[in-house]
Amino acid sequence: MSEHDQDQPATEEPDAASGDAASGEDCLFCRIVSGELSADLVHQDDDVVAFRDIQPKAPTHVLVVPRRHVRDWSDTARHAPELGPALLRGVADVADALGLEHYRVVANTGEKAGQSVFHLHLHVLGGRPMLWPPG
Ligand code: 5GP
Ligand code: ZN
Repeated sequence: MSEHDQDQPATEEPDAASGDAASGEDCLFCRIVSGELSADLVHQDDDVVAFRDIQPKAPTHVLVVPRRHVRDWSDTARHAPELGPALLRGVADVADALGLEHYRVVANTGEKAGQSVFHLHLHVLGGRPMLWPPG
């Protein structure tokens, strides 16, 4: 079993977000992943779950989250880099499922960058022209 076996919840790893108060049962997205809270699912596989954002910022706004609790982009890169391909694939699978040809992927990282839920999630936004720079 590898150090970062995907069956191991990150909260059981001493170096992966274990001191994070918003993890496991306290984490909103863990509760959606487990099915405890309902969400409008658009895709799921062994590694990721994708569901519609409750306050959409575009006609299509889907969140792709790893089943495993990781706090943010940096936590994932440091402690669960093996999730990378699954997240890449998850976004593409959402785009395929919804017929999105033009879309934006955003990962707000840290409060000042707009992160409000501290379980990694990739926003997939589409269905309207996107401004650049994003502001
Ligand atoms: P962040 O601000 O962390 O980048 O993104 C968190 C996103 O989660 C926000 O866009 C917010 O609307 C969404 N969100 C917050 N609570 C819920 C919820 O209970 N269900 C769903 N589907 N989305 C949520
Ligand atoms: Zn979580």
